[in-house]
Amino acid sequence: MPEISETLDPADWDTHRAVAHQMVDDAIDYLCDVRSRPVWQEMPPQVRRQFREGVPQDGTPLPKVYQQVMAEVFPYPMGNIHPRFWMWYMGASNFTGAMGDFLAAILGSNLGGGDHAAAEIDKQVVGWMKEMIGFPAEASGTLVSGGSMANLIGLTVARNVMSGIDLRAEGVGALCAPMRFYGSDQVHSCHRTAVEAMGLGDIALHRVPSDADCRMELPALRRAITEDRASGLHPACIIATAGTVNTGAIDDLEAIADLCAEEGLWMHVDGCIGGLLAIAPKGRALVKGIARADSIAIDPHKWLHAPFEVGCALVRDAEAHRGAFTVTPEYLEATPRGIASGTWLHDFGFQTSRGFRALKVWMALKEQGVAKFGRLIDQDLAHARHLSDRIVATPNLELCFPGVINIVCFRYNPGGLSEAALKRLNTEIMVLMQEGGIAAVSDTTVRGRHCLRAAINNHRTLPCDLDMLTVEAVRLGEILAQRVTSA
Ligand SMILES: *Cc1c(COP(=O)(O)O)cnc(C)c1O
Repeated sequence: MPEISETLDPADWDTHRAVAHQMVDDAIDYLCDVRSRPVWQEMPPQVRRQFREGVPQDGTPLPKVYQQVMAEVFPYPMGNIHPRFWMWYMGASNFTGAMGDFLAAILGSNLGGGDHAAAEIDKQVVGWMKEMIGFPAEASGTLVSGGSMANLIGLTVARNVMSGIDLRAEGVGALCAPMRFYGSDQVHSCHRTAVEAMGLGDIALHRVPSDADCRMELPALRRAITEDRASGLHPACIIATAGTVNTGAIDDLEAIADLCAEEGLWMHVDGCIGGLLAIAPKGRALVKGIARADSIAIDPHKWLHAPFEVGCALVRDAEAHRGAFTVTPEYLEATPRGIASGTWLHDFGFQTSRGFRALKVWMALKEQGVAKFGRLIDQDLAHARHLSDRIVATPNLELCFPGVINIVCFRYNPGGLSEAALKRLNTEIMVLMQEGGIAAVSDTTVRGRHCLRAAINNHRTLPCDLDMLTVEAVRLGEILAQRVTSA
């Protein structure tokens, strides 16, 4: 044995202290300068090559490792912390949350359970989420990796409770009749993964047509439930979406809650996009009835701008929640006192070891207050209206869907082009804007029409950024349309 055992700690902390201070300074500079950098830029091949090297056998001093991070990682981000990033639907992160993640890792605690401060904070943040949504304090919940996992948790509890059998012991093979879950045709793709993972198969997720506003058609929903019952299937759960990915449409939560009560069905709300409207003074009315749900998925790494990853599942019936996941193997028995005396937080989901993702949410909420986050949500809604107005007022730009929240679907349409040509043209506009580092929007197809899509979920966006988007879309559109017609 060597005289001194090896450790991962440095022999001398001074270098690490200096590098760590440098990291914080660089991080703050990076955020201060974010607006002046391109939203995105492609990695040169020599940079990409670095990331395909095999595992290093020997060590490199930390300053050199850090240098590589700064030179080869930080210039090539996805771009979502930039004020002109509006793709898909994600948050723009925040500094305090990032420091929270750093401190959580320094503390290093495992949130699988136990009696320690981090576990208390985890429970407190779940409590705050309940408060924000308007759920009763006795309800249950858990922090997870994101919305997909939060939905899976809610739907798993729904499946077990509604199955009418001891599903955990007997499995889906023992079901008397095939279960059915109902969502609109706008439902997020994670619900498909969920029903598949739950052993029910994609067939168990009935896609109900949506109406002209992209909301679930309630007469069609009622019909589907009645017909399924008549043919021996087992209607179990309605998945209402509060903010669809395509257009931000919000299903009629009150009516769906009434229907669930009438039919004895579980009501799950996918609130990954719109659930947190509940804290916005102006937006709140849009999600009236959300708290009537049996389970809700919300996504703090979206409208609370927490650094990835953090989602939250809430379940009204705490016993049902725990009953779906609890396991107490002999090596995890609780003791009356000491470290193992706390709640086993792993009893509320699929993970055993859990990270301290609560801290980044807790610190940012403490620093800013929930009212500020609510105002920022209303600000995004106002920005979306601003963009929509600009689009309507700009010749050759077409508003493809009158959104109700912060998602704006539009396209450049100079007239006289086929749908296929318009799709090619707009896709090229979108990619050129990304490659030029100007702005990032994504695209989708709504009611058969291809369109560009800006999801303005960004506390750094200013109205002038949105003006620039319309100006650039037209500028690039004109250049490209010219090419099409002169070709
Ligand atoms: C983002 C989203 C999800 C998935 O959440 P992740 O955090 O990406 O796992 C589910 N449903 C809706 C409506 C979403 O917008």
